[in-house]
Amino acid sequence: MDTASAHRITRFLERQEAWFEPFAAVPRGWPEPEALGFGQYLAPLVVLADHSPLQGWSPLRVVPLSEARAPVASGGMQYGLSVFEGLKAYRDPDGAAQLFRPHDHAARLAASAARLGMPAPGAELFLEACRLASRIHEAFLPPQGRGSLYLRPTIYADEEALGFRVAGRHQLAVVVMPCCDPPLKTLSLWAEPELTRAALGGLGAAKTGGNYAAGLLGMLRAREQGCDDVAWLDAATHTRLAEAGTMNLFVEVDRVWCTPPLDGSILAGLTRDTLMQLLRAEGFKAEERELDLRELERLERAGRIGGALGTGTAARVVRIAAIRGPRQTVQFHDVGHAERFSALLKDAQEGRGGTPAQWRVTVEA
Ligand SMILES: *Cc1c(COP(=O)(O)O)cnc(C)c1O
Repeated sequence: MDTASAHRITRFLERQEAWFEPFAAVPRGWPEPEALGFGQYLAPLVVLADHSPLQGWSPLRVVPLSEARAPVASGGMQYGLSVFEGLKAYRDPDGAAQLFRPHDHAARLAASAARLGMPAPGAELFLEACRLASRIHEAFLPPQGRGSLYLRPTIYADEEALGFRVAGRHQLAVVVMPCCDPPLKTLSLWAEPELTRAALGGLGAAKTGGNYAAGLLGMLRAREQGCDDVAWLDAATHTRLAEAGTMNLFVEVDRVWCTPPLDGSILAGLTRDTLMQLLRAEGFKAEERELDLRELERLERAGRIGGALGTGTAARVVRIAAIRGPRQTVQFHDVGHAERFSALLKDAQEGRGGTPAQWRVTVEA
């Protein structure tokens, strides 16, 4: 952190200390990391900044979560003008808090915001907000190896007005959620034959609520079919794998770990990118390749399909046992790769082994 922003945060903490001190402590009865799950337990404070076209971004401030409320008559609520990121802070082997690939998350948030015609903070302000959000919740960050702080920086149009246009006011909010490292899960996916998550030219590559709204019914249909989650196919032909809606997909074909190319309808997952780099460094082959379900079914019968994975910041690595649709079923055959790749990712995130130095950024200045 540059000294100016370090100074600003220090001054800020001094000013706020009087009231936020009690919040920063972990409340009595707070669960052990393993019992936190994902999504139930939110940290008590939120970091906010406001944007207006004239003033740009305001300085950061901290409020209790209960005071961070979006107006119902705003573009964020009415028109889905909202984009977000999901990144994690981990403890390194010395116990110091580190953010994983925050610059890449800042760049993706800016790209998502641009697609929706919204302003985004520069990388410096983004980093400062994530550092502050992590720092004031340091007591909530589980010990090394047992979990992380999941940060959810969100930008939304929060001007109270109903006309459909670029809003006169946006807010950046960083919500924090302490979470555990989930054990490796095995899922089966439903290849949804009818609904579409995203089409070429649409919002698929932006991390925005609209894609989730498009996807919820697909998830419900997957459950009705006895599957755990949905595998989205391309919008035009419903034959090629796209992604899982919260995770990117990998399939091992002829010993190459293949993931669908980023055609604009797929979210460019940073876990996807991290895993491809880690696999290559370990001597595996990893590449982008179209994955047609009909072809995968044929290849599987010929014994040429190995394992399959889902990847994402929240889920980390999951093992996929099968992808099933009304016309095809593809079974996968993991021989310990999911476990190994999950460990590789964990080492990189927690700063063991040869993690590239630029991926990890300390929370403290
Ligand atoms: C966030 C997200 C992912 C995973 O991206 P990571 O950067 O790996 O967390 C995959 N698909 C969608 C739709 C997402 O929103």
